[in-house]
Amino acid sequence: MNKLLPTATAGSLPKPVWLAEPEKLWSPWKLQGDELIEAKQDALRVSLSEQQRAGIDIVSDGEQTRQHFVTTFIEHLTGVDFDKRETVRIRDRYDASVPTVVGAVSREKPVFVEDAKFLRAQTDAPIKWALPGPMTMIDTLYDAHYKSREKLAWEFAKILNEEAKELQAAGVDIIQFDEPAFNVFFDEVNDWGIATLERAIEGLNCETAVHICYGYGIKANTDWKKTLGNEWRQYEKVFPKLQASNIDLVSLECQNSHVPMDLIELIRGKKVMVGAIDVASATVETPEQVADTLRKALRFVDADKLYPCTNCGMAPLPRHVARGKLAALGAGAEIVRQELSA
Ligand SMILES: [Zn+2]
Repeated sequence: MNKLLPTATAGSLPKPVWLAEPEKLWSPWKLQGDELIEAKQDALRVSLSEQQRAGIDIVSDGEQTRQHFVTTFIEHLTGVDFDKRETVRIRDRYDASVPTVVGAVSREKPVFVEDAKFLRAQTDAPIKWALPGPMTMIDTLYDAHYKSREKLAWEFAKILNEEAKELQAAGVDIIQFDEPAFNVFFDEVNDWGIATLERAIEGLNCETAVHICYGYGIKANTDWKKTLGNEWRQYEKVFPKLQASNIDLVSLECQNSHVPMDLIELIRGKKVMVGAIDVASATVETPEQVADTLRKALRFVDADKLYPCTNCGMAPLPRHVARGKLAALGAGAEIVRQELSA
């Protein structure tokens, strides 16, 4: 990107009420068949237009075509039985009923490639596409086949790499892997988590990103955050290895979080998507608050490597709140852009 401080979102944006029940994760679709396909495409167009009106430079589909950032991808794979459910502890934080891995996992056909082509056809702006990361995928399943988190992660990494190569061919500029699990399982991240992520990006020429956050603004996450104390130093455990990895961009939660900003120094050299929008609060930031977060981050990341962004996805928020937050992000980035070029 030639533009200074190009803005982006971490991923999901709210869906229109005619597509799915609002302000809800895993919200069921309201239509079926061809009507659903057309409605998803219409929602994508609306989401794209809202991002561009707000001054978002690197746009996405707002995840309008998926129900959930992890399970929708897994639903398209073989080897996972969605009817056979087990209760497991997700991110070591809350119990959920999840599908079971019953055999070898594989991707018989592309998952998001047609959706990405559709987005590509709508805009000449740089586009970013999100996929779940291998570690976060295994953490959302019960494994009755491989019986090894690491083995299953390597299998998913291979599958993600196939999908990523086709997304790149479809014209995606940045492929992002969502790895909230990197904030929890530090030993595994360092043992094989980052290695499996690098397997997922093997052979790609487009830019690659990893998104590591403290989660959506759902109760299980906000309760967990209350236990983390005044300083959230989780990033410190994985940044050194991430700094040495082949990943180009790192997407982080910085707004209203207790993450000490100086931890960003540990990934010096990487492009940093600085979360300047809190997705766990319905209060819309002012452009000045966004600018303030970006200014603090600029002490630890070079201006040409700073990408103003949201902390995480905004799917569970009311639409007007998300629109307001996008506008604040665009306006806040512009304030700092003006300061830097003055
Ligand atoms: Zn997130």
